Amino acid sequence: SYRKGGYHAVRIGDPFASGRYIAQRKLGWGQFSTVWLAYDTHSANLYGIIIRFASSFLFLRIGDRFLDTKYVALKIQKSAQQFAQAALHEIDVLCSIADGDPSNSKCVVRLIDHFKHTGPNGQHLCMVLEFLGDSLLQLIRFNRYKGIELNKVREICKCVLIALDYLHRELGIIHTDLKPENILLLSTIDPSRDPIKSGLLTPILERPEGGNLNGGSAYIEKKMKRRAKRAVATISSRRDSMGGQSSKPPRCLDGIDMRCKVVDFGNACWADKRFAEEIQTRQYRAPEVILLSGYTFSVDMWSFACIVFELATGDMMFAPKTGEGFSEDEDHLALMMELLGKMPRKIAVGGARSKDFFDRHGDLKRIRRLKYLPLDRLLVNKYKFAETDAREFMEFLSPLLDFAPEKRPTALQCLQHPWLNLRSSDGQSNVDAGMSKLKI
Ligand code: ADP
Ligand code: MG
Repeated sequence: SYRKGGYHAVRIGDPFASGRYIAQRKLGWGQFSTVWLAYDTHSANLYGIIIRFASSFLFLRIGDRFLDTKYVALKIQKSAQQFAQAALHEIDVLCSIADGDPSNSKCVVRLIDHFKHTGPNGQHLCMVLEFLGDSLLQLIRFNRYKGIELNKVREICKCVLIALDYLHRELGIIHTDLKPENILLLSTIDPSRDPIKSGLLTPILERPEGGNLNGGSAYIEKKMKRRAKRAVATISSRRDSMGGQSSKPPRCLDGIDMRCKVVDFGNACWADKRFAEEIQTRQYRAPEVILLSGYTFSVDMWSFACIVFELATGDMMFAPKTGEGFSEDEDHLALMMELLGKMPRKIAVGGARSKDFFDRHGDLKRIRRLKYLPLDRLLVNKYKFAETDAREFMEFLSPLLDFAPEKRPTALQCLQHPWLNLRSSDGQSNVDAGMSKLKI
């Protein structure tokens, strides 16, 4: 990908925007871009710049905390025409987001600046974003796929809902690609203490070289598959493995500030100006997108519910697979029905692609026998939730997973849900809490 039209190769210390930003280390990458930690020389004084220059020349790492430096994330887009177009669109969306939120309190990443950078592979659009920490996917992995305690899940939910309410109601924007990789924790560790290993969990968590799980390379595909193997939500005859959960106990997350922000507006659209029919990453895709029945803001609410389940249990809610005689799409619809009940006939047969999956009675054509297991039973049986926790959690989640998109609550309605203000009594992971209650 590092060729004409592709990524821009960056070395540590490279200057951008006439020397204003200096690259420090790679933070991540996606299909269209690489993202770098950079420091903004405009925020440092001359004395600081001289010390930093001298120290890097002498291979000393002087704590930049003395130097009052501001760190930013530099997203450098691939240079080909279509990527530049996509970046312009993302900048457009990010500008409206920033304009509508002058106090930067709506839990959405802030665009600070943008410019063009010419390199050997062409001209790259660059976005300067506020620097954030690790993603929710890294948090889930850090916790060894054991599920994060519900009190912390609630804190994350509040941030994401504030972001969604702002995007949907005030701006008319649909994100269309909500997933754990695209929600980043606020970095509570000052990157200047250790610019090489900052972020939030990175000092402990091994991060693959510049890796995230967004892109389309073979490496990422392999990682995605490995992850999907682990992710088995419902107990179904078509996939009944218990997944690859680590036998080690979950890590302690005490003291980690659970505030987060939504990022990656490369696929976002305005509700009245939609671009693509097929949206969303597979596991977080709403049924109306599979059936091509038309979509609106409520597709984000579906993805939100999938993410919340994954945070609380460590497993993806739906991890469909192609099987003998059925497609990934059909498996996906079957998994949804096994967990949420049969899809109403009118909805099942109402989409442009309905005929590919459903007969005229609204039954799946190729997957005939479904094993129903309601959400609260799954939480108790497989994830060992206490009965009350499971019931309360289901009362919050299941309305978001309504097959009828217009019946799903809005982000604002969710923010008013009592579940967000409940407090679970102990600080263990849900899975462990249930286990210990069982032993008692
Ligand atoms: P793409 O559109 O190419 O998928 P993203 O905006 O999702 O790009 O960014 C790719 C990755 O870079 C993210 O998954 C994350 O790991 C990292 N990243 C993006 N924005 C930031 C940020 N503001 N602060 C820290 N890391 C970031
Ligand atoms: Mg991304």
